[in-house]
Amino acid sequence: MHSENPAPDYDVVVIGGGPAGSTTAALLAQKGHRVLVLEREHFPRYHIGESMITGMLSVMEQLGLRERLEEMGFERKYGISLVWGRERGLWNIAFREGGPYEYSYHVKRAEFDRMLLDRAAELGVTVEQGATVRAPVVSGDRVTGVRYSKDGRSDEVSARIVVDASGQSRVLARHFSDVVWHGELRNLAVWNYYEGCRRLEGEQRSNILVEKVGDDNGWFWGIPLGDSLLSVGYVAPTEDIRLERADLAGFFETKLGQTKYMKELVEPATLTSDFRTTRDWSYMANEFHGPGWVSVGDASCFIDPLLSSGVCLGMLCAVPLAQAICISLDDPGQEKRVFGRYSAGCRDFAEGILDYVLFFYDQQRDREDYYERAAAIAGSDVFQSPRKGFVALISGIAGMGPIFTMDRGPSDEPVAVPAVNSQTAPAQR
Ligand SMILES: Cc1cc2nc3c(=O)[nH]c(=O)nc-3n(C[C@H](O)[C@H](O)[C@H](O)COP(=O)(O)OP(=O)(O)OC[C@H]3O[C@@H](n4cnc5c(N)ncnc54)[C@H](O)[C@@H]3O)c2cc1C
Repeated sequence: MHSENPAPDYDVVVIGGGPAGSTTAALLAQKGHRVLVLEREHFPRYHIGESMITGMLSVMEQLGLRERLEEMGFERKYGISLVWGRERGLWNIAFREGGPYEYSYHVKRAEFDRMLLDRAAELGVTVEQGATVRAPVVSGDRVTGVRYSKDGRSDEVSARIVVDASGQSRVLARHFSDVVWHGELRNLAVWNYYEGCRRLEGEQRSNILVEKVGDDNGWFWGIPLGDSLLSVGYVAPTEDIRLERADLAGFFETKLGQTKYMKELVEPATLTSDFRTTRDWSYMANEFHGPGWVSVGDASCFIDPLLSSGVCLGMLCAVPLAQAICISLDDPGQEKRVFGRYSAGCRDFAEGILDYVLFFYDQQRDREDYYERAAAIAGSDVFQSPRKGFVALISGIAGMGPIFTMDRGPSDEPVAVPAVNSQTAPAQR
C-alpha cells in the first residue's frame, strides 16, 4: 500500500475500529477526508462494556444511526437501579428526570461496534479488518504512518495524521507517552452471562442494577441483554480477586450470595459461558497527542466501569477530535494548537468523571450527598434540584462544561461544538 509518491496514502489512519475509532473515522469521512481504519479483529468481535448512557445518543444522531440503533432491537435502558451508599435499600433513577432522552440501550458490543464500523465504511472510510498495527513510522520527530501486518504479510501506510483508537492496547500512544495509574481504582472485573433470569419489577425492568456487596469493597453490575439474558459482573480491588483466581466460580457465587437483589435475579438462571476477567485499572496518559498523532477513547484514558461512561466518553471526545483534525488538515500550522485544545478539553472532561467516580465510591455517604456533589459539578443553576443534576450527570455526563470549544484561529468564525451541558439540560418540568 505504501506509495513512492511523497503524497501520503491517506489523510488520516485510525488504529482500531471500536466506538472511538469508528466515530472519529466516520465524522472525518462526512467531511470528505480520505480515512483508513486498521482493525486487528474481524467484526463482529466480543467486547465488554454493554450498558450505554444517554450522553452518546447525540453522537449517534450525528452519525445518522439513531433509527438503526433502535432497529437493532437492543434492550432499551430507561434508568439505573442502585443499592449504594449508606442506605441498603434499592433506589432508582430514570433518565427522563435529568435530560432530553428518555432511554438509552444495553447492547451486545459485537453487534453495536459492527454497526458503527459498517457506518464508517458506508460514509467512505476504507476499513481493513484483521490488520494489526505493529509500530509507528516516524520521520524526524513526526509520525507519518504505521507498519501493520495482515494475512501474514507486513505493510506500511502513510498518513498526514495517525489516530490511536486502539483501546487499552495503546498501540501507538505507548511509544510516546506514559500513563498515570490511579491507585484508588486498581480494580479487577470478573463476569459471566446468565440465561433464564428474573427481571427487576415494574418501571425498573430494563434498568442496569448496580449493587454493592454487603460491607465488602466490591460491587455487581446486572445488565439485561434480552428477555432473560443478564450480564453479571463483579468489580473489586485487584488484591481481593487475585487471591481467588484458582476458584473464580466459587468466589463469584459466594459474592453473589452476599447480595440481596442480584442473587434473586439469577437464582433460577444458568451460566452460559466461562468466567472472564479483566483488569479495569484506571489510568490517564500524560500526552494525548504529539507531532502527527493523537489518541482518543481508552487509548487516552480509562476511568472505571461504575458509571458506564467509557463508550460515551470515547464517542463524545471523537467529535471535537474530528473537528481538530479537519482544521489541521486544512492548515497544518494549526495542528499543535488544536490538538493541544482537544487534549486539554478531553483531559478536563475525563478528570471530572474521575473525581465524581472517586466520590461516588465512598459508601459512607447518603443519596443526598451524591446528589449535591453531582449537581455542583453539573451546574446547580441549570438543574432545578440536586437530584436532577445527579441524574443528568450520571446519564449523560452533563455539566462538566463543553468538552472542547474549537476555533480556527483569531480571524475565523468559531466552529460550533455540541456542548454536553446544552445536550442534556432538562426541559422545564
Ligand atoms: C469491566 C468493564 C466494564 C465496562 N462496562 C462499560 C459499560 O457498561 N458501558 C460503557 O460505556 N463502557 C464500559 N466499559 C468501558 C468500555 O468498554 C470502553 O471504554 C470502550 O470500549 C472504549 O472504546 P474504544 O473505542 O476506545 O476502545 P475499544 O472498544 O477497546 O476498541 C479498540 C479497538 O482497537 C483494536 N485494536 C487493538 N489493538 C490493535 C492493533 N494493534 N491494531 C489494530 N487494531 C487494534 C481492538 O481490536 C478494538 O476493536 C467497561 C470496561 C470494563 C473494563
